[in-house]
Amino acid sequence: MNFNRILSVALAAVVGGGAAIAHADENVLNLYSSRHYQTDERLYSDFEKATGITINRIEGKGDALIQRIASEGANSPADVLLTVDAGRLWRADQQGLLQPVGSEALAAAIPANVRHPDGHWFGFSRRARILYYNPDKVSAADAPTTYEELADPKYKGLICIRSGSNIYSLSLMSHLIDKHGEEAAEEWAKAVVANFARDPQGGDTDQIRAVAAGECGISVGNTYYYARLAASDKAEDRAVAEKVVPVWPNQNEGGVHMNISGAGIAKNAPNRENAVKFLEYLASKQAQRYFSNGNNEYPVVVGALDNPVLEALGGFVVDPINVAVYGENQPLAQKIYDRAGWK
Ligand code: FE
Repeated sequence: MNFNRILSVALAAVVGGGAAIAHADENVLNLYSSRHYQTDERLYSDFEKATGITINRIEGKGDALIQRIASEGANSPADVLLTVDAGRLWRADQQGLLQPVGSEALAAAIPANVRHPDGHWFGFSRRARILYYNPDKVSAADAPTTYEELADPKYKGLICIRSGSNIYSLSLMSHLIDKHGEEAAEEWAKAVVANFARDPQGGDTDQIRAVAAGECGISVGNTYYYARLAASDKAEDRAVAEKVVPVWPNQNEGGVHMNISGAGIAKNAPNRENAVKFLEYLASKQAQRYFSNGNNEYPVVVGALDNPVLEALGGFVVDPINVAVYGENQPLAQKIYDRAGWK
C-alpha cells in the first residue's frame, strides 16, 4: 500500500464513518455487478469458501454502475466491474475506469478475441445474437439466413427490432461496419428501416413475442431470451417459443455475431489482489458453468458447456471478430442509425 492509498483510506474512514462498504481490507472484494441471477449465489459462495474473501455486491444497471464508479473517483471502493456487452465495457474503459491486468491464467483460459488486448476487461460468457421468424408469416424457404438479408425488400413490413441506441444494436452495427465498411453499413440500416413492421420498441423478449403473435415476421435477439421462454415453467411462454423458429445467421458467411458478458478491475481498486483472484476464479471450469448457466449463456472457456437447453440449440459457427471492435466503432454506429432514421 503506497502513501496515497493509506491517506485515501484514512480519509475515507473519517468521511465515510460506518459506511456499509469496506474500503481496503485483506478479506474483502467489492463487486459492482449488473448481474442478478439466482444461480450466482453458488458462484459467489464457492469463491468465498475457497478464499476466505467476502464479496460485497453492489448491484445496479450497467451504465448506472459505470456512472457511479466515475463519480466516486479516486476513492471509489469498486474492485471489479461486472457487466454485459463489450460495447459497455469499452465505455467504462474509455472513461479511464479500468486498469490493466497481466494475468497469465486469464490469458491462457480466455480466447484473445473476447478480452481487451491489455487486460482492461475479460469476457466470461458469450451471448449469440440470432434471427427468429414466424413460419406463418415467412416460409422456411424464404426466411433470412444472414443479418445482411434483413435488408432485402421482400421483408417489407415484417421486421421487429430494438432501438438504434440499445447497446446490443450498437454492437451489431459496429460489427457490420467492420465487415462491410461505413457506406455499406448505412445502406443496410436504411434498407432494414424500410422493412420495419413498427417503430423500434421493447427488449429482445418483446421482439420474440411480437413475432410469435404475428405482429411481425422476423426479429433479432440473443439466444438466452429464447432459451428462457423455451424452458419457462409457464405454458404460455413455452407456446411463444414454439411459435418461432430460431436461425443461426451467417453460418456460411463469417459466423454468428457474438457478444460477451465480462468484467474488469477498477482503476482505483482498493483490493486489487482479491480482484485478480476473483477474475481468475471466474475463468475456472466450475465457475464458468455457474456463470454461463445462470442466464443460459455460453461459457468462454472451451469445454465448459453443460446446459441441455443450449445443447438443444446445436453447434454453430462464430464470427471470430475481436469484440473490442464493438466499442471502437460504437460512436459511428450510433451516427449511422441516426442518419438511417433507426430510432
Ligand atoms: Fe440481455
